Amino acid sequence: MYNIIPKYIKNLTGYQSARKIGGNGKIWLNANESPYLSKLSISFKKLNRYPHFQPEKLLLAYSLYSKIPKKNILITRGADEGIDLLIRVFCERNKDSIITIPPTYGMYDIIAKIAGIQNKKIFMLWEKNISINRIISNIKNVKIIFICRPNNPTGHLINKKTIYSILKLSKNKFFIVIDEAYIDFCITDNLSGWIKEFKNLIILRTLSKAFGLAGIRCGFILASSKIINIISKIIAPYPIPYPTYKIAYSFFSPKNINLLKKHIITINFNRFWLFHKLKKIKLIQEVFTSYANFILIKTLYVKKIFFVLQRNGIIVRDQHNVPMLRGCLRISIGTHSECKKIIETLKNLNS
Ligand SMILES: *Cc1c(COP(=O)(O)O)cnc(C)c1O
Repeated sequence: MYNIIPKYIKNLTGYQSARKIGGNGKIWLNANESPYLSKLSISFKKLNRYPHFQPEKLLLAYSLYSKIPKKNILITRGADEGIDLLIRVFCERNKDSIITIPPTYGMYDIIAKIAGIQNKKIFMLWEKNISINRIISNIKNVKIIFICRPNNPTGHLINKKTIYSILKLSKNKFFIVIDEAYIDFCITDNLSGWIKEFKNLIILRTLSKAFGLAGIRCGFILASSKIINIISKIIAPYPIPYPTYKIAYSFFSPKNINLLKKHIITINFNRFWLFHKLKKIKLIQEVFTSYANFILIKTLYVKKIFFVLQRNGIIVRDQHNVPMLRGCLRISIGTHSECKKIIETLKNLNS
């Protein structure tokens, strides 16, 4: 896969930050930092110093959680930064393209636009799975295919066999990025184990969804070590804020991982409960099967349902203007009493 990387990236020497160069001593005067520790009451020491490029302890913690070696992990400021890095590292402005399979997560398109990269959209209804032939006929100048799995906003989990076929046909030609932002809700379906076999497979993860840490901005890129090293050259010099690292790391204690697993079981149960209750609501035509912490519904009364929910203090995501999602609303899975409130609000609604 190395041969398809733009020359100016291959020849680039990444920024040599003071923290990367390192050294031994007590008086640090090589990075224009303040020598004074700020007197914050929260016990974040060392806030006067730049953080480590890739905090070792957090790498190790995520390595244990994901069962992926440290050398195959890059910590990023959320999965969004991961998307941005991948497009910037593999695609040449005004020349290369990406493929996306809408309806899907909107940031692939936005970041491609910013980077001057064409996004070839292959619209497909996820329920029917994706057609490999339509991908093949579009691969000219394509460097990356983004596949969101489970897909946002449909919740669909494209099947493993299809991904495997796409990986095989794309070997040495272009990269397959599997966005696993929601995979923690169905972790046994994750594809990280295939990174060894496919050098063109890249996986995105985040602590923003199942971990409940959207506020700290922390995500991960999983890929072959060669790819991780290439991306390291273009990421910001100090990408992971020290408080982010400290908070993220604390969430990988055995106690917190147990709590995370409990929360995931609860959310999955609530989704199951809500799915069956929504199916019985008269005004809803279709409830899509979901593997994530949200459910997409389709209704002829989209405005009515949206506003009735809103009047009752429940805010859901309107997808009505998204191509192929006419009449759709996306409902995130909350606590059981929140799910109950949705059903109580919609139960006696008439057209
Ligand atoms: C939320 C989301 C992201 C972004 O996650 P951050 O880590 O918060 O940047 C990426 N991909 C998908 C599919 C998402 O839903």
